[in-house]
Amino acid sequence: MNLGFGVVGTGAIGQEHMKRITRKLTGADIVAVTDVNQELAGNIVKELNLNASVHKDDTELINDPNVKAVLVTSWGPAHEGTVLKAIEAGKFVFVEKPLATTSEGCERIVTAEQEQGKRLVQVGFMRRYDSGYLQMKEAIDNNFIGEPLMVRCSHRNPEVGERYTTDMAILDTLIHEIDTLHWLVGDDYKSIQVTYPKKSSRALEHLKDPQIVTFETKSGIIMHAEIFVNCQFGYDIQCEVIGEEGVVKLPEVPSVGYRKDGVRGYKILQDWQHRFNDAFNNEFQDFIDSINQKGEPQGPSSWDGYIASVTGDAGVRAQTSEQVEVIELPDRPDFYKKTKLEESSL
Ligand code: NAP
Repeated sequence: MNLGFGVVGTGAIGQEHMKRITRKLTGADIVAVTDVNQELAGNIVKELNLNASVHKDDTELINDPNVKAVLVTSWGPAHEGTVLKAIEAGKFVFVEKPLATTSEGCERIVTAEQEQGKRLVQVGFMRRYDSGYLQMKEAIDNNFIGEPLMVRCSHRNPEVGERYTTDMAILDTLIHEIDTLHWLVGDDYKSIQVTYPKKSSRALEHLKDPQIVTFETKSGIIMHAEIFVNCQFGYDIQCEVIGEEGVVKLPEVPSVGYRKDGVRGYKILQDWQHRFNDAFNNEFQDFIDSINQKGEPQGPSSWDGYIASVTGDAGVRAQTSEQVEVIELPDRPDFYKKTKLEESSL
């Protein structure tokens, strides 16, 4: 039987995910929706020609017996409440990042899920499903480059609007690297520091851009991450892991090469939707298949959402102090420990 999704928040990414679930993927249907703007939710149901109930709020949607999994794509501050209600009702949850907007909120979710006794929650850290990162992880896990020693990466966006603030560079942009980098090398973070190079004249007055973030992991790996959200030229994600015996590098996204007007070149993507479209499809297909076949999700867990939040908080402190900030992480509970086989089968 198909997995019935109830969608909470039918805005930009909610609509994208509804389209991928109904048009691209197999094994699931959208059976219910809700949004603070109920008219919007109703219109999307009509537009996508869905056989789905429109509920007045998340509580009513979670109590709908046809809803087996709740897709949380409302705005960040509403995530915690919906996720906790869904866990209490024993329903599966796919929640877009952030899991919750505070680490205390993430901890409440982690506790509630453990009390329920089985994994119910997956967090939308889709980079773990990107084929380039997966190839890098496989090489690192197979000791192809020996012990990882250093990581260099960049997260560049062409430009951002007025509402984008300096802390969002950590909490909205770097959050994806925060999740991906420790997973990639199989280590935990120990500390974080933020430094500010010369400011780009293209950045608005209130925004510090670019920023360089330095992580140190428990085993001593140093990771440099550049965040540059007004780089002008495109959406550009780079990552390179340097090991004792070699280097692995995130592949460039293939694009048509051209020769024109005396130039030989390649187009650069302009947005994250195109860059990670396949990864989004893969993460949802894995969520659906894991639940349908194994009875629980196996992707990034609420513990991963919690780690990202604690690390993000330390990053925001480091933005102000400009000092090395210690990242205090409790040990991963057995409940959230994964075997290598489970990780590599993502
Ligand atoms: P959005 O376009 O503003 O959509 C959010 C929708 O949820 C809006 O329709 C909003 O209504 C509604 N909403 C807010 N609170 C609600 C509640 N309590 N119950 C039901 N509906 C509620 O935002 P978005 O860009 O889609 O982002 C949604 C989430 O996805 C955010 O957490 C964001 O960080 C995450 N995201 C993740 C990625 C990724 O790379 N994985 C990319 C983009 C976004 P109003 O507009 O009327 O408030």
